[in-house]
Amino acid sequence: MAKIIVLCGCTLSSASNLFIFLDCVPVPVTLSAPPIRPAWHGLIHAYGDFLPVSDRTPVVTLYEGNTPLIPVPQIAARIGRNVSVYVKYDGLNPTGSFKDRGMTMAISKAKEAGAEAVICASTGNTSAAAAAYARRAGLRAYVLVPEGYVAQGKLAQALLYGAEVIAIEGNFDKALEIVRLMAETYPVTLVNSVNPYRLEGQKTAAFEVVDSLGNAPDWLCIPMGNAGNITAYWMGFCQYREQNRCDRLPRMMGFQAAGSAPLVKGEIVTHPETIATAIRIGNPANWQRAIAVKEASQGAFNAVTDEEILKAYCLLASEEGIFCEPASAASVAGLLKLADQVPSGATVVCVLTGNGLKDPETALKQESDRFHRHIEPTEQTVAKVMGF
Ligand SMILES: *Cc1c(COP(=O)(O)O)cnc(C)c1O
Repeated sequence: MAKIIVLCGCTLSSASNLFIFLDCVPVPVTLSAPPIRPAWHGLIHAYGDFLPVSDRTPVVTLYEGNTPLIPVPQIAARIGRNVSVYVKYDGLNPTGSFKDRGMTMAISKAKEAGAEAVICASTGNTSAAAAAYARRAGLRAYVLVPEGYVAQGKLAQALLYGAEVIAIEGNFDKALEIVRLMAETYPVTLVNSVNPYRLEGQKTAAFEVVDSLGNAPDWLCIPMGNAGNITAYWMGFCQYREQNRCDRLPRMMGFQAAGSAPLVKGEIVTHPETIATAIRIGNPANWQRAIAVKEASQGAFNAVTDEEILKAYCLLASEEGIFCEPASAASVAGLLKLADQVPSGATVVCVLTGNGLKDPETALKQESDRFHRHIEPTEQTVAKVMGF
């Protein structure tokens, strides 16, 4: 209520605090301008109070985070029973994956500590994020990738951002082994998800989910590779719960590709194989943490086949208009697989970890019967192809 004393001496109260005067009679006016939202300057800026940063931390940011939580009604309809399903589309981060959330923290802290170079092993997205943030900070970036198993978009990014890309004749697990040793021996900071600042940054995705929904979801479905992200989400939900920003915690539902499912099988997979190269990992770095998250949240780990992953991947694109990379679709494939177990009326969030543009090759291999080629350039022929 605004209380305004007008010059003629009378007092008036009104919910409006803007008045125009018509013949000395004050008339309240309501303005319908949209509320002013503060500009988004990245997740350290937004959630700094929840992060291990100080005034001395040089914030290296590309304004990552603040990604949309999008309802997916066609997926929800497949489950029915009033279940609401959303996707956290983290493929809309600056380099196209959730890895940016961890990297803004890891690189800012590396720079604060005086590092001059960073190193990581990567199935692709970590290398793109590390390269972008490191170069922005003026640090050198070295990335080890498994030769022949990195989606093209990711490799293109790492190269163009200016990293030294070292493709080894071995898989991710071998690459991680090597970079761990390099970081012990040489003056390079390791920025894989064994770096605690990575998880600190990544936990902000859980904050955003709660900020959007007004509470934690009942289920959080997420693909697992090294299992850093599932660990980070859980940290975020728990921290928000402690601060009373939500009044419950989700069940953490982790999914791995069937050919690369050590956390489901409970044993190391020596030769992991899957079309979802981002989660082609046989010996997850955050193994024990992931098990602890599963137990604490009464969650579950399940495997989905490449076929199920590709089906969910195509479904998301063709029915929801959302293009994610295959590894990301494992979360939705998993949800659909466990459809019968979802409680009626539940709210489910599936994390879409990376952008579909990362991996055009896999996209182009799908559903090629809608790609009409070698068509004679005439109106008649085009109309015929269109079915008229
Ligand atoms: C890194 C990555 C994952 C796996 O995340 P972890 O933290 O290793 O479990 C899943 N999807 C995409 C697209 C990724 O880049």
